[in-house]
Amino acid sequence: MKGKLKSLKAKPKMVTLHCTDTSDEIDYTAANIDAWHKSRKPPFREIGYHYVIRKDGMIEKGREDHVQGAHVRSHNKENLGIVWVGRYHFNEAQRYALLYLYHYLRIKYGVHSGDWFGHYEFDTANGKTCPNLEMDDIRAWLEGTSDLLLK
Ligand SMILES: [Zn+2]
Repeated sequence: MKGKLKSLKAKPKMVTLHCTDTSDEIDYTAANIDAWHKSRKPPFREIGYHYVIRKDGMIEKGREDHVQGAHVRSHNKENLGIVWVGRYHFNEAQRYALLYLYHYLRIKYGVHSGDWFGHYEFDTANGKTCPNLEMDDIRAWLEGTSDLLLK
């Protein structure tokens, strides 16, 4: 979809987690991802995700929350996109950053752990394994019923 950015009519109702699917050795930035998405064919107007979790746990802002994302085919409406930088190694700093973001978005929009999904859980994921994390474990981590750091 080319053209102008759509505004979310209502506040976000769900969150979808992604990974950049890039080398775990390289810490890409929101600016890098913005450049990748702008060079797609057809190009996105800007980075498709709303938040980026860097290797050191820093959270960078992508798209504004009130602007519809471009991260899950056919399911971007009222869906915030978060991407962690890497492919397989979701490190300790990133796990804590995710927990922070979870509580931030829970308080801001009332989205709870049951409203969090992994890209692979959507019918349009086409066999993608993104974000390469077991979402039941992630939801339990967000709820505080499991310690992801022990896994
Ligand atoms: Zn994804």
